[in-house]
Amino acid sequence: MSHLMNTYARQPVTFAKGEGVWLWDEGGKKYLDAVAGVAVNSLGHAHPRLAQAVCEQAKTLIHTSNLYQVAKQEALAEKLCGLAGMDKAFICNSGAEANEAAIKLARMYGHGKGVETPTIIVMEKSFHGRTMATLTATGNRKVQAGFEPLLGGFVRVPYNDVNAVAQIAEHNQNVVAILVEPVQGEGGIQIPAASYLRELRSLCDAHGWLLMLDEVQTGIGRTGTWFAFQQAGIVPDVMALAKGLGGGFPIGACLAKGAAAEVFKPGNHGSTFGGNPLACAAALATLTTIEELDLCRNAAEIGDYIRTSMTAQLEGVAGVVQVRNAGLMVGIELNKPCAELVKRALEQGFLINVTADSVVRLLPPLIMTRDEAAQLITMLSKLIKEFLAG
Ligand SMILES: *Cc1c(COP(=O)(O)O)cnc(C)c1O
Repeated sequence: MSHLMNTYARQPVTFAKGEGVWLWDEGGKKYLDAVAGVAVNSLGHAHPRLAQAVCEQAKTLIHTSNLYQVAKQEALAEKLCGLAGMDKAFICNSGAEANEAAIKLARMYGHGKGVETPTIIVMEKSFHGRTMATLTATGNRKVQAGFEPLLGGFVRVPYNDVNAVAQIAEHNQNVVAILVEPVQGEGGIQIPAASYLRELRSLCDAHGWLLMLDEVQTGIGRTGTWFAFQQAGIVPDVMALAKGLGGGFPIGACLAKGAAAEVFKPGNHGSTFGGNPLACAAALATLTTIEELDLCRNAAEIGDYIRTSMTAQLEGVAGVVQVRNAGLMVGIELNKPCAELVKRALEQGFLINVTADSVVRLLPPLIMTRDEAAQLITMLSKLIKEFLAG
């Protein structure tokens, strides 16, 4: 009997080692990894640059706490702000924590403006994490059920619906921020209209709201640019990052710009572990490697290659609703629930994910080559065809 709490429906496999986009289980069977630890292993497995940075830092200094200056944390904040065009960063340990920081920041920003019940606009089908505030912000009843009472201070509108947001502006004086994913990942790789973020930016500017982007999944090169917002030609006030940031090492960040960057004062927020030298060394090595290997561009190219090839392979196949992607966030939507594909793929030696019941989700490492992508496409298109035919 396992002594772990029963929180996950795990696949019956234990991985023993990895290299690049490949994993090996305890029996020595090899798998092509198109999940990357849920968009986390941006450099694939056992990348020598990341391994070396973590080893060297571990031999030097792992943790000192935020009672003291942390040079690597300063360096990471400077690097992230430079890449994103933001002003300040708060370093934490996960995506939920990055969003918690954003939510607390928005509330304090609201109180600073004299709003007594600051309210954040959030979206249907969104995912922001599993803490009480972030599960309240999440637009999925399954994530919330059993954990009531939820927090106050959120209003929900449909995703990709600017008018719904504009209507709230007309009658709700308590709104202080919008929290939104540039592409909904857990929601099924939902890609909004190209104008969506720009129009939300305009509404935020008109009403003095903060535009807060949850780029926990979309950020760090995943969609083909460092951050998804860069493709919309806007800059947010607040952005949450995690997943790919540490290349597998747990780390998150909440970035802010302008007035939002000045909200927190000493004592307002904190973390014991957040931004320790080891985590920051891992993130810095991940970022510089992505930069030097031009992996944002690779994500864009390989993602588009997977979409066009899968579209061609699945052309005319009844039951395929749509193949879509934003860089290496790829979704293949079928017309029926397809969770069982995960297990079938595992048996055949490759890892995929299914989300929103009927969307096959691919989140491969950003280092995936065209040849590796071709192997994935061959195996996956065959699997989907067999599934839909049977
Ligand atoms: C994964 C995810 C989170 C939660 O991140 P954790 O590190 O699991 O807390 C939040 N937002 C989005 C968009 C995510 O994809």
